[in-house]
Amino acid sequence: MLNQKSYRTTPIQKLYENLNDNLFYLKRDDLFSFFLGGNKARKAALFFEDIKKKNCDCVVSYGSSSSNHCRVVANIAAAKSMPCYLITPTEASKPTINSKMVQIFGATVRKCPTTEVEKAIETVLAELKKQGHNPYFIPGGGHGDIGTRAYVYAYEEINNYERKTGIYFDYIFLTSGTGTTQAGLICGQLICNDNRTIVGISNARKNPYGGQVVLESVNSYLDSIGKKHVTSKNINFVDDYVLGGYGSYNNDILQTIKEILIRDGIPMDTTYTGKGFWGMKEYIKEKQITGKNILFIHTGGTPLFFDSLGELADET
Ligand SMILES: *Cc1c(COP(=O)(O)O)cnc(C)c1O
Repeated sequence: MLNQKSYRTTPIQKLYENLNDNLFYLKRDDLFSFFLGGNKARKAALFFEDIKKKNCDCVVSYGSSSSNHCRVVANIAAAKSMPCYLITPTEASKPTINSKMVQIFGATVRKCPTTEVEKAIETVLAELKKQGHNPYFIPGGGHGDIGTRAYVYAYEEINNYERKTGIYFDYIFLTSGTGTTQAGLICGQLICNDNRTIVGISNARKNPYGGQVVLESVNSYLDSIGKKHVTSKNINFVDDYVLGGYGSYNNDILQTIKEILIRDGIPMDTTYTGKGFWGMKEYIKEKQITGKNILFIHTGGTPLFFDSLGELADET
């Protein structure tokens, strides 16, 4: 499971979408080789390598009940028979497909008010240490240099694909949440020294905060490999399509999801990938981008597609 060679490459496929005579391609990170893949699986694979290196014997992390990150961490921990502790804000703890799967994986979930999450994490870590364990903490969403590195690797895959096929992507779009995925792609680009445009479509955060976090992640990673810092002009974090913030969506998003599902047979969700793909199309229309090769990263989250199946079926 999750050995270097098998997990590091996901396919890129052409979509039927042809808005403004652009050609659209999709990097299928939802097919990353662990359960239903996704960027959280790509990041977690590297975190678990670090856990092994540091000889830790249990893992602690944090996220809502709909968190893909928590589900992936609980899954890999269970596969390794490693105890897993998850802190979940009470305000975001209604049952979802991800939270039911976390239950199957036998993770211990501790609920507490959002304002007390930090304290709860410290308490769990302290308890585990007192019991003689060597716990490992994974930041929410797989944030941090290790998570960033996962998408430096993804960028290298994109580069290899271009070299092999002769297809060059003018734009890379993705849905940006905490921005770690975007930061990794930007670092990959800085390392490879090419100059296409990477656009993160925010699903929740507004600027300047959202873009600032991406910039901090980029510079933190560049520090770790001894490269020079960059400035905010290297960061395209677009907050025009967040609607009412995290989890909010409209009928156009449902329509976009339905189109891709029917035409390409690919599931997307209303919180991340479907919202980002819709935002990308709006951005392309507004900026009048035509005749380009465009790559969108499918960052996974397929359980959320099933959570919203009811709304999709009702949408006409
Ligand atoms: C977490 C998540 C994102 C956002 O990734 P970040 O690295 O936090 O920006 C995008 N898509 C899906 C499906 C996710 O689960």
